[in-house]
Formats: sequence, structure tokens, C-alpha cells
Amino acid sequence: MRAYDLIRKKRDGGQLSSEELQFLVWGATSGGIADEQLAAFLMAVFFRGMDLQKELPAWLHAMLHSGQVLDLSAIPGRKVDKHSTGGVGDKISLPLAPLVAVCGVRVPMVSGRGLGHTGGTLDKLESIPGFSVDLSIARFAELVNRLGVCLIGQTAEIAPADRKLYALRDATATVESIPLIASSILSKKLAEGIDALVLDVKVGRGAFMKTLEEARLLARTMVDLCKALGRGCVALLTDMDAPLGSAVGNAVEVRESIEVLRGGGPPDVRELTLRLGVEMLLSGEAPGVGNDPLLARMRLETALADGGALRRFMQLVEAQGGDPSAIEDPSRLPQPKAKREVRADKSGVLTRLDAEVVGLAAVDLGAGRARKEDVVDHAAGLLLRKRLGEEVRAGDVLAELHAAGDSRLDAGEARLRAAFAIGDKAPALRPLVMERVA
Ligand code: URA
Repeated sequence: MRAYDLIRKKRDGGQLSSEELQFLVWGATSGGIADEQLAAFLMAVFFRGMDLQKELPAWLHAMLHSGQVLDLSAIPGRKVDKHSTGGVGDKISLPLAPLVAVCGVRVPMVSGRGLGHTGGTLDKLESIPGFSVDLSIARFAELVNRLGVCLIGQTAEIAPADRKLYALRDATATVESIPLIASSILSKKLAEGIDALVLDVKVGRGAFMKTLEEARLLARTMVDLCKALGRGCVALLTDMDAPLGSAVGNAVEVRESIEVLRGGGPPDVRELTLRLGVEMLLSGEAPGVGNDPLLARMRLETALADGGALRRFMQLVEAQGGDPSAIEDPSRLPQPKAKREVRADKSGVLTRLDAEVVGLAAVDLGAGRARKEDVVDHAAGLLLRKRLGEEVRAGDVLAELHAAGDSRLDAGEARLRAAFAIGDKAPALRPLVMERVA
């Protein structure tokens, strides 16, 4: 088999066999196929797509098995994870994972870091003093068994073909391809040894998918692909025009997550945690819940109200080397050296709160990475003081900025001002959960 022939076949609209797709994935993993040929193949897929019935499942299967696939079958019960396609202020995994675990479904969660304007769960967790996301697979499995939950970073052994191909896509403008995105995400998630996956596909200004049509197509593709590989999958399409909650950054988002685990927190963060939690309890066949979403929701609400979810989070923090007293007393989380308030210069209604611009402002403040190798400042970030559609008077505080010093605050403030628009008429608000794809 020659890579050249396979590139030509895809370029001309042909359909590749499982063996041919496997050969290409082998070439990406082993270095047996040159980068320029892999890149040309990716570009051919970008324009020609992949057949959803045969090609894409075979491609995903090969990507998934390019590395280690965890076998958690010795751990009783169904294992379910959640994946978000990435947003701003999206700290949902932090309250959700321990909450679902305490309700009886095991959550083996392999998460990512922030890149571009979106944040990453690992960076947020690492703002808890001592917390380690680099655990061995044996320890990961032990904690999933004992506590029902563990949150780690991707290891070098998981889906190495995706690591190679993603880097090539990033450099060749081939990231925005639905079959390539779907197979990239699922090759990593399904390697965790899960029985089912709940997807949070973000839609809007701060999301990968800007329109409902694109998000719907990505969700449908991923749900069908998971099912083709024998795993359960359901997706919620959720709004990401404005950031989720008030906090955007790392330590600030951990604080907001603790509020949710204490039964409070911003209504949208709590609601999305519960909506995704219901899907996870149903997919995970949680004991005593059956197929009833109302029972599932009551179970989750009880675990938030009685402190069970918070206690499980503290156990998880301790087991992963973190300081649980920082959860009891969040003032022990990293604190910024400098703060600044951004105030409204006129009165009216907040008609725009652009999640992408807010995310970029958080990066300017030091909370994210402009490049992969940048170091994150865990204390940096911002707190939004007004919500979309809220009335504002001139001089009101729109946001509080946290950073290491004035130059960061200047950059963050300049960017953030462009995220807000104040007008006369309240905007039409989109529902938090826009659609469900199963
Ligand atoms: N996230 C991934 O892991 N892969 C993609 O292709 C896009 C987003």
C-alpha cells in the first residue's frame, strides 16, 4: 500500500477501505508516512469528508487503537464521562464529576488544558495547591473504583495518532472538519474505557461551532459514531454566546464551582451541571433512578443540598495530592497581586457579552495561553458583575479583573471593553440547553 495512492483516491472522491485507513493511522503513529503526505490526506478529507457508515467508524477505530485503551471492566458499574467542546467560563466538570460519582455512577475523566480563548479543566484543578493531574493509570483506576471519580490529563499513550494528526491539522488549516473533529475527540474519550459519553456541544460566539446547524451536525456525527463503536452517547447543544457563570480564569472558576457544590452558585452553572448530570445518571444506569429524569434530578439536587457532592470533591482533591482545606476555605486558593474594576460608561441594557472576547481578555490577564508553552497564572482571571440583558447604570461595575500587575490589567481591560455593548432594548435570550441529540 502506498500513501500516495490513498491520497489520490480520497482527493478524487473515492471511498477508502478499513485496511487503507488503518494504514494511514499506522503511518501517523509510527512516523512511517511523511508529514507532507499525512497533511495532504487531511486536506483531501477536509474537502471530500468521510463516509459516515463505513469510513468514519473504521478511521475512529484505528485512531482509538493507535495507543492504550484502558480496560476498566474489573470495576463494577457503568463508567460515564462528559466532554465539552470548549467554552468560556465552562467549569462544569469540576462540580459535575464528584456530583455524579456520589450518585453512584463512576466517572473516569481525562481532561485537557486551555488553548486559545477557551479554558481547560486541568489548569483550573492545578490552581488548587498540590493538586496533581499526572497520575499513573493504575492509580487512576484505583480512584475511579474507590471514589467513583478521578480527573487526569492525557497521557502520551492515549491516542498517539491524534496527537500527530492534530498538530498537522493545526498547521495546515484543516481543524474545522466535522469528521476530523469527531474522530479526534472520540479517539481520546473512548480510550478511557467508558461505557457511555455525554457531550456538551457548545454553540455561539465563544464556541468552535458558531451556528446551531454546525453544532447539530457535529453532535449527530459523534453520537452515531459512538453508537457504531458500541458505546452509549447523548449530546446537549448548549449556549456559548456569553460566558457560563460569572468567573472566567482558574482559581476564580474553582471558587465558583465550590459555590455550586455548596448548593448555590450562578443559576446557569448550577442548571447545566444538573442537566448534564441527569444525562450521566441515566446513561450510567445509576442505582434507584431507572429511566426517570425527574428522579435523577432529585437525586442530584439532594447530593448538592446535603453536602455529599462537596465532600466527594474534597476526598478527590485529597486523593490527588491537593489541599482540601483550600476547598473548605477558598480564600486559600491563589490570590491576585492586583485587581481592577471595569465600569460602564453609559446607562442602558447589556445587549452583548461576547464569550470569545471575554476569553481572550482572560488570556491577556494571564489566565490562559497564547501559545502552548506559555505558563498559566492561576490567580488571574475575571468576575463578570452583569449578565446579558441586565440593566446597567453609568458607573456600575461590569467586571472585576485579577492579574499579576498593571500591564496585564491594562491589556485585559482594553480587550474586555470590546466584549460589552450597552443599548436600549433587552436582547432576546437564548435557552441554556438548545437541543438534545440522542
Ligand atoms: N478538540 C479535539 O480534541 N480535537 C479537535 O479536532 C477539535 C477539538
